[in-house]
Amino acid sequence: MIHELVLTGMIEAHEQERAGHGVQKEPRLWCSDLGKCPTRVMLRVLGVQGGMDFPPKILKVFALGNAYEDVTLRWLQAGVEGKVKGSVTEQQVVRTAVWSGKIDFLVELEDGMPIIVEHKATGDKWWDYHGNLPKSEHICQAWLYGQLYHELCGVEPSVVLYYSSWTHYAEFVLRAHTDGIRAEGTMDDEPISRWVWLKPQLLREELELAFRQGVAPDPRPGDKGMTGCTFKGAPSCPYYDHCWRKKDHHWGKEGKAE
Ligand code: SF4
Repeated sequence: MIHELVLTGMIEAHEQERAGHGVQKEPRLWCSDLGKCPTRVMLRVLGVQGGMDFPPKILKVFALGNAYEDVTLRWLQAGVEGKVKGSVTEQQVVRTAVWSGKIDFLVELEDGMPIIVEHKATGDKWWDYHGNLPKSEHICQAWLYGQLYHELCGVEPSVVLYYSSWTHYAEFVLRAHTDGIRAEGTMDDEPISRWVWLKPQLLREELELAFRQGVAPDPRPGDKGMTGCTFKGAPSCPYYDHCWRKKDHHWGKEGKAE
């Protein structure tokens, strides 16, 4: 079965690492890092302590997201295992010398074809912005699972991004093209098809280069309002002080050069 091949690949990578065959040891890049601020990703990888923890409200949102995921798992299992014959593996680990992550659901149909399902939960209010779905960083993460799976197993899986909230859902099958990603699927029972002008491969190469060099790229002044540094005017990234506080007098409060 396909997931056994994934496990075999993981074990080999792990054994290579233990034997010290030129494979870098922990920490690795997380698959969810792709598409996020590379400075933030690399500061974590390099072990730089951030000045902020997640506030309780955000931790609560994470917990609710896990609850949505449990519901989706049960429904997926009922559908796949009960009707079309196949299996659902939850939290399938993928691991290489550089990347590590967990596929939310790995579906294997009777014919052996794998489907990667990445699950994202949203609040109903946030759904007001459903025109922004699928989000770029979610596409990057799901796309990378598909790539790593292909590289480890030699089989190209289908990649699906699934969103659920209290009363809404959306699912997108992602297909990579030269200029971007085609996302096709259903949103609240309505067919939907969107282009997302995004090149995850280039982002992957950029991040892997920084990882291999062991450097955190300097934040660019214009990034301050773009990359999740702040939310509603307050710092929202644990590395805000590291990136901006000492530089504010150079770059101005809004991240513009003075
Ligand atoms: S503060 Fe902004 S630029 Fe710095 S690591 Fe965080 S998101 Fe990136």
